[in-house]
Amino acid sequence: MFHYLNGRLHCEQVDLEEIAASVGTPCYVYSAQSILDAWRSYDEAFGDLPHLVCYAVKANSSLAVLAMLARLGSGFDIVSGGELFRVMKAGGDPGKTVFSGVGKTTAEIELALRSGIRNFNCESEGELVEINSIAGRLGVTAQFSLRVNPDVDAVTHPYISTGLRDHKFGIDIAAAVDMYRRARTLLHIRAAGVSCHIGSQILDYSPILEAAGKVLTLIEILQADGIPIRHVDLGGGLGISYQTGEQAPGIRDFITDLRDRIGRAGLTVMVEPGRSIVGPAGVLLTRVLNRKITPSKEFIVVDAAMNDLIRPALYKAHHEIGPLRKAEGKSVMADVVGPVCETGDFLARDREMADVQPGSWLAVSSAGAYGFVQASNYNSRPRGAEVLVEGNRWRVVRSRETYDDLIRGETL
Ligand SMILES: *Cc1c(COP(=O)(O)O)cnc(C)c1O
Repeated sequence: MFHYLNGRLHCEQVDLEEIAASVGTPCYVYSAQSILDAWRSYDEAFGDLPHLVCYAVKANSSLAVLAMLARLGSGFDIVSGGELFRVMKAGGDPGKTVFSGVGKTTAEIELALRSGIRNFNCESEGELVEINSIAGRLGVTAQFSLRVNPDVDAVTHPYISTGLRDHKFGIDIAAAVDMYRRARTLLHIRAAGVSCHIGSQILDYSPILEAAGKVLTLIEILQADGIPIRHVDLGGGLGISYQTGEQAPGIRDFITDLRDRIGRAGLTVMVEPGRSIVGPAGVLLTRVLNRKITPSKEFIVVDAAMNDLIRPALYKAHHEIGPLRKAEGKSVMADVVGPVCETGDFLARDREMADVQPGSWLAVSSAGAYGFVQASNYNSRPRGAEVLVEGNRWRVVRSRETYDDLIRGETL
């Protein structure tokens, strides 16, 4: 959805310079078409197999993005009460919403139960006891899955790998049967499924298939034991291509292989994709402020920083960065850095870059997931605007923060 036309970078049919000039920078721009296509790829590849694609809200929780997916009939995967609030504000269906996460508060569980969410993905026995007692108090029955830890290695960055035995996430798969058995004595919760999520940015999805196999074996044991498991939730995690030449798996291939693996087990299959739906659909626009040369390095100083996009600083992540106006001629080897007072504040290091001059604009690619949602006000920098492009139209879906926004709620 992002391509050069007459030397200008476009999102769908919109010239990104038009947005940068009008809205200012830093600014996130999302392609509606790209998001819709990715979600439909998941949905359509399941065919007639009972399924629910629960978009992982944490990847990009913009109301406009959630509303688009809600209109398609998407389910949602949330990890906080705030995300549930957003889903409902955007017109999402709580009845298609699953609540994941290793630490849910009483207030969050109560909100989720009152809202009528579909399922809790639980990660400890204490959590089951807590949900049971709140559900009893409210006079409802809560459906739950245990998020099991299948002990497979997702082969990704250690901070986003979650499926090994020593990670904080999930319940050891060997201990799950006993926990499901004990949960039968809790009268206000009912086991409905088994879930797992082994990590993120997974470029070779065979570990997810391996995890699916282990989870199916567990489900057979549970069903033989009279526990009526009806769905299997395989989480999210499918990777995207961040770097030219990096091969990302196709969504349709992944789901087709998953279907083959799960076959006709009579289960509803759920997935919780985040990054693979919104990641490629977004860019971060930034303006070149200065060029700077030290004895050992050359720097391109831009107006976006680690507070706008923390992935390079946090995971040493690579994002392609290119000029909005295609540059001919010489390139330079430079670090692209922001204004924040941290040495870790960089968007790219030792990167071959176009010879861009102060005042010109750059686009940081694949920034639709884990971009704005991880933005902060560090250095008292107002968070940037968000723009949604649909065909030849665009609109601001979140305005740039003001200085007054920075001090909201504070007193002297
Ligand atoms: C983060 C997360 C997801 C989404 O992961 P992606 O890599 O963005 O697809 C899904 N499920 C759970 C439980 C998560 O924590």
